[in-house]
Amino acid sequence: LRSRLPDVGTTIFSVMSQLALDHGAINLSQGFPDFALDPALLEHVNDAMRQGHNQYAPMPGLLALREAIAGKLALGQQVTVDPVSEITITAGATQALFTALAVGLHAGDQALVLDPSYDSYAPAITALGAEPVRIKLAPPTFALDWQQIEDAITPRTRVIIINNPGNPSTRVWSRVDRAALAQLAERYDLLVIADEVYEHLVYDGAQHSSVLAEPALRARSIAVYSFGKTFHATGWKIGYMVAPPAITAELRKLHQFLVFSVHTPAQFGLAAHLHDASHWQNLAAEYQARRDHLATGLSAAGFDLLPCAGTYFQLASYTRIRPDLDELAFAKWLTTEFGVASIPLSPFYGDGANHQLVRFCFAKRPETLDAAIARLAPLA
Ligand code: PMP
Ligand code: GLN
Repeated sequence: LRSRLPDVGTTIFSVMSQLALDHGAINLSQGFPDFALDPALLEHVNDAMRQGHNQYAPMPGLLALREAIAGKLALGQQVTVDPVSEITITAGATQALFTALAVGLHAGDQALVLDPSYDSYAPAITALGAEPVRIKLAPPTFALDWQQIEDAITPRTRVIIINNPGNPSTRVWSRVDRAALAQLAERYDLLVIADEVYEHLVYDGAQHSSVLAEPALRARSIAVYSFGKTFHATGWKIGYMVAPPAITAELRKLHQFLVFSVHTPAQFGLAAHLHDASHWQNLAAEYQARRDHLATGLSAAGFDLLPCAGTYFQLASYTRIRPDLDELAFAKWLTTEFGVASIPLSPFYGDGANHQLVRFCFAKRPETLDAAIARLAPLA
């Protein structure tokens, strides 16, 4: 068998979650909430099952759900999206991203990836026979250098994949960034794949600037979202992608043979739940409190924190604690010796560079954060 991904092992999320389990550690590594989702949402899904909505959903997704998503985009981003021809429900953001990359890339094409990048992007590009061209953004600001990005473009570049808010950088794009992306994408005729799964987790009064809200980008972008993130149900693996009709038609050609359709009762439940905008409009305030809670404890334990502008992750430097260890060694040491699991930053860089930074997930109950803080306190 010739491996499609000869250089890829098990993801860092599986590695660290398993280590946490093996050592009874509090798992602040893999990003998932440990609190319950809204009982009303569960009721909606149960109702759908009891009412017999247990067979295949329509291939692009339940129309009621797609209409509810269009309503949410109109309210939240002031954009008009046609639920019939522009929205497709997927098995999480991961499937949406793979499908989007498959639509944009043929063998030998290149895709620009901004590192540190979410771990599925580069392997998905490679598996498609295309080439990830990784551009390094450096901590602590992870600022975009548009000249550097433009210099990486070749006649084979077809796609740029972006993540806003960024995991693990936590960076939130400004409107200036977005306008620069629009200019570049137009000049070089690039397809933009925008991973916006953390769209609601933007802090300190900042606003999410979606590619959908910039007309020049709207015409050439596939925007990707995840209900796992928005409604604290990462195990449901339901998300969606939004793209203009011609691009959506291509996405659906693939989608129908990848999964055909996804979990029907959950789609009914989500459609009902989305009708109350408070279910997603209050998320930033809730998560900002969790961010500040963990940040106080990490600082007290001797970590130096990078600013966290979005997502539910906090990057922390351990230079004052164990400067002798690389990131993976530090994350393992913290798990086995102090019972708190984190994620090293290095797997998100193509070159594996070490910056003495680890990522903690704060999508946790206050009790969990307190317990983790108590375990880390002796580090100080
Ligand atoms: N993109 C980013 C940036 C993520 O952090 C994640 C993981 N939560 C995903 C995509 C995958 O989302 P899903 O679980 O819906 O496949
Ligand atoms: N997105 C999650 C994170 O960044 C992990 C998802 C996964 O385990 N594949 O932690």
